[in-house]
Amino acid sequence: MHTPPAPSANDWSPEEFRSYCQQVSDWIAGYLAGLRSYPVLSPVQPGQIKSALPASPPASPEPFAQILVDFERVILPGITHWNHPRFFAYFSITGSGPGILGELLAAALNVNAMLWKTSPAATEMEEVVLDWLRQMLRLPEAFRGVINDTASVSSLCAMAAAREAAGLQVRDKGLSGRQGLPRLCMYTSEQAHSSIEKAAIVLGIGQQGLRKIPCDHHYRMDVEALAQAIRHDIAAGYRPLCVIATIGTTSTTSVDPVAAIAELCAAHGLWLHVDAAYAGVTAMLPEKRDLFTGWEQADSIVVNPHKWLFTPIDCSVLFCRRPDVLRQAFSLTPEYLRTAEQDQVVNLMDYGVSLGRRFRSLKLWMVMRSLGTSGIAAVLRQHMSYAHRLGDLIAAHPQIELVTPVWFSTVVFRFRPPAVPEETVNALNARLLETVNHTGAVMLSHTVLRGQYALRLAIGNLRTTWEDVELAWRTVQEQAEKLTTADLG
Ligand code: PLP
Repeated sequence: MHTPPAPSANDWSPEEFRSYCQQVSDWIAGYLAGLRSYPVLSPVQPGQIKSALPASPPASPEPFAQILVDFERVILPGITHWNHPRFFAYFSITGSGPGILGELLAAALNVNAMLWKTSPAATEMEEVVLDWLRQMLRLPEAFRGVINDTASVSSLCAMAAAREAAGLQVRDKGLSGRQGLPRLCMYTSEQAHSSIEKAAIVLGIGQQGLRKIPCDHHYRMDVEALAQAIRHDIAAGYRPLCVIATIGTTSTTSVDPVAAIAELCAAHGLWLHVDAAYAGVTAMLPEKRDLFTGWEQADSIVVNPHKWLFTPIDCSVLFCRRPDVLRQAFSLTPEYLRTAEQDQVVNLMDYGVSLGRRFRSLKLWMVMRSLGTSGIAAVLRQHMSYAHRLGDLIAAHPQIELVTPVWFSTVVFRFRPPAVPEETVNALNARLLETVNHTGAVMLSHTVLRGQYALRLAIGNLRTTWEDVELAWRTVQEQAEKLTTADLG
């Protein structure tokens, strides 16, 4: 039943809300349509935004119209436009229309999905949508998903579950000062994301306890080196706990040989966690399945819809084949969080660090429904076809070279003019990146591979066209030609 709105003493009236909402949605529509007119990389200097903002809060209410004016005047210049179709740095992402509205509705409901009872739809939606995603990625039914803010937290939780699975009672007794507790260790490749090392620090494994296994010439974990490291550690009295493999590493998007790693994990009773934060969604494409062979044997997998599934940040999915162990690692129910139905339902607080949780599955649901699996597959294929097309152009260029094969939608390359001494090439590429990004037309990022500085161009925005990629390529060539003789050493 609809009752007439009561006048609200403290918050906006419905009329005010409607009017401001209209202004904001008009602004967003214009922003999304006109994104190409903005410089991708914010040109501001450190401290510039802070100095334009008042140091103290306003004592009296301010009109929303004025706040919106200041948003455009003060904040916008300090934005690096991640939603720009020519943002190609790090991993390119998308705040899509349905995702943005999903965020808005989630904010309006403002539920905390910590317990089933505190919003049954938020819990059950998360279970259903993540099962859709599981099916889409062709993972076995045993995998259960849970949403975290970031892959860093998803991997931390997975690695905590691995520690729990070892039966060392760390949850109960901790790690410090324990007689007879062996030194613990975990394994990942030297190309793994830094979040894995951070998790090792947090979990008391320590940086020294995380073995960074060398890679082959394509930056994939060397399984023989992994096998040797495990054997060596066991002989030295260490207790190996887990291996973290990556499908789509951050620097080059290389893919570790997961099937062989899974076999080793099974032989040694180690937990296998797969970091597929960026590339995981492509498991839905039959032509990419080879790269995922063996991942179904993992104990846990992370895939980030906020990377390449057009869902606004933050939304990271941890799939776990042993959710009971994850629960065992994290479940702790004080009296004030007990509910009558707790043994019959999923209480999301039991599967991670945080108690409070946003209703993140709503935006993912809206994105998946709005695009459909065929729409998602079509965009992923388009992005990868652009990346391959760019890779071909680079391979044909006399002075710019591909550094690694194009595995997904990321292209890694460097400027390598023949007459320039090798020791100058790194500085030259750093300068090239700076000048390319300084144009404001595009934004790329960089990495260093075996001492060689390289540029990365990652395609992943829903609105990116081939013309955007072409413009990026033209900008790189123009800026490379403009580098001065001083730059060339
Ligand atoms: N794993 C991989 C392979 C990544 O590339 C990244 C970030 O780019 C992460 C994990 C960390 O992601 P998040 O920012 O969600 O913690």
